[in-house]
Amino acid sequence: MTTISGALQAVRDRIARAAEAAGRNPSEIVLLAVSKTFRPEQIREAYLAGQRAFGENYLQEALGKMPALAELPLEWHFIGPIQSNKTRAIAEHFAWVHGVDREKIAERLSQARSPDLPPLHVCVQVNVSGEATKSGAAPEQVPELARRVAELPHLRLRGLMAIPEPSPDAGLQRARFRRLRELKQRLCADGLPLDTLSMGMSEDLEAAIAEGATIVRVGTAIFGTRRKQETVNSER
Ligand SMILES: *Cc1c(COP(=O)(O)O)cnc(C)c1O
Repeated sequence: MTTISGALQAVRDRIARAAEAAGRNPSEIVLLAVSKTFRPEQIREAYLAGQRAFGENYLQEALGKMPALAELPLEWHFIGPIQSNKTRAIAEHFAWVHGVDREKIAERLSQARSPDLPPLHVCVQVNVSGEATKSGAAPEQVPELARRVAELPHLRLRGLMAIPEPSPDAGLQRARFRRLRELKQRLCADGLPLDTLSMGMSEDLEAAIAEGATIVRVGTAIFGTRRKQETVNSER
């Protein structure tokens, strides 16, 4: 039987191998453990195996789990779609938000973030697959949105995030990650202080690391297969 600690080690090894293959230092890459649908005891098990950063997609589910883990120094990342009526609770309970894709959401998060807390770390989500149904800002809208996030007092613009559609075509998959990297480079050249590329999941973290990922968001490869999500999704 695979334990969470064994699976975590296997993922760390994959990250190290992918980094070395790309001529990168593995310590540049943060592993975000995506714990949606998994129980507090499983999160605790990952913590005991050295994991600190955890990603959650559904606000109510995350808020339900956090009290059981409150004594642990965990870093919580909100990685799901953001509804405007949830911005207050997200700004209060998370250290990072990866899915900011419009100005209104950024403004509400900044307003809701307590000045007593460090600024909320923000990634702008980009739709790199060009699908109308996917969330994420269109690449051409990203420079303006990123500039706006950088101006907001209680947010700290960190980088870009994408969830490219899975593709059996490895070249196409990599091209989408590359698109995110090139967009980040352009924004940096324009003077925006971006240091983060949040891209790559259980199936494609190697391709993402080859294209410069600095945060990989991994769920299944650490915690196992998720049960069907209709009930969790219905809160949205
Ligand atoms: C669920 C999820 C992940 C993790 O996906 P796995 O394939 O289980 O590794 C990463 N990022 C986001 C935004 C997710 O919703």
